[in-house]
Amino acid sequence: MIYTKEKLMDLLDAKRQILKDLRDAVNVRKVVNNEHSQRKPIFCGMTVHPGDGCSLGCLYCYVCDMEISGVKASDLTGVELVYALAFNKYFLPKKTLIAIGSITEPFLPEIESKTYEFMESISKYLKNPIQVSTKLCPSDPRRLIECDECISFLMSFSSYLGELEPSVNVLDRIECLKKIISLGIEAVGFIRPIVPGITEKHIDELLISLKEAGVRAIVLGSLRVTPRVLNILSKRFHLKEISKRVKRRFKDRNDQVPLDVRDLKMKIKKIAKELGLRIFPFACSANIISHKMSCNLCHLGPCGRHKIGDEESIYEYFESRRIKVEVLEFSRDIIVLKIVKGKYQSYDKVLLETYYKIPVKVK
Ligand code: SF4
Ligand code: SF4
Repeated sequence: MIYTKEKLMDLLDAKRQILKDLRDAVNVRKVVNNEHSQRKPIFCGMTVHPGDGCSLGCLYCYVCDMEISGVKASDLTGVELVYALAFNKYFLPKKTLIAIGSITEPFLPEIESKTYEFMESISKYLKNPIQVSTKLCPSDPRRLIECDECISFLMSFSSYLGELEPSVNVLDRIECLKKIISLGIEAVGFIRPIVPGITEKHIDELLISLKEAGVRAIVLGSLRVTPRVLNILSKRFHLKEISKRVKRRFKDRNDQVPLDVRDLKMKIKKIAKELGLRIFPFACSANIISHKMSCNLCHLGPCGRHKIGDEESIYEYFESRRIKVEVLEFSRDIIVLKIVKGKYQSYDKVLLETYYKIPVKVK
């Protein structure tokens, strides 16, 4: 499918067309009950899960606190995933950022073929910008660019010695980055999670190795702990430091609470800057830049040179929704709307923000 225009209503029409075209190729009941057809995208876009569970056993991982056991590839086909996303009222073809690799490791042997199947189908029918984050090297990295020639590839490291990630060798990950970069892919070093007392210890060596591998940018990510993860890290590594940094009390045994690592981020940024590495504020920023897009959706932007889109898409959209609006402000920094008549829903805001990549405020 090729989109010749990119107005908001064209993208919504494309969604409807996909649902029509693919209806006979999918098990509709299974697909509309799948989480991908219901979920609201998070800050970095829509996380796509080619499977769940992971056998790599990183010590800070909270996947098993989510009551996920074993490793299982998704039971959706690639076409069913596309149908689920097109059915999702928060999703926009071409515009919603896709992030693969959250509740599993996308290149585990049990998951890898599903990861490619999903990426190939997204590329064929939806053409959304794809980002994959991993700790394993894809067995055939060329397939990444066949799926998305601007794919954003993030390789994660929580320390140089890899003491928290016993199943994945740090040097193998650096070798993988060299391979990926030699194919022309913009690979980024994802320093996450930052574990106080461990990540910062040999951070210079890690950043120098990334730079020597050809990496030009990094993203930093904080640690979230459940009571179980906090217990493991504190006992095994005597990390009193961690408990001090937990931002709030746990609500229950599965609660994930972030740590305050602002000082460590500053320290890592300083070293990275001295080495000439670019620092992206969030993973979404790496995805935007890799796809030569732009965004001004949060206070850390703009990422890329952001220009405001066409104003008439707002009117066309609300007309189709039978909602009467007044546009009070339409600028590169904010869109302010006043609803005159009709029922405004949370997905209206998500679709407009996804399309314009500008915050939308409703008065
Ligand atoms: S690779 Fe990711 S999902 Fe797997 S154990 Fe490590 S943190 Fe968890
Ligand atoms: S402005 Fe940048 S960091 Fe903020 S949401 Fe957009 S891409 Fe992400």
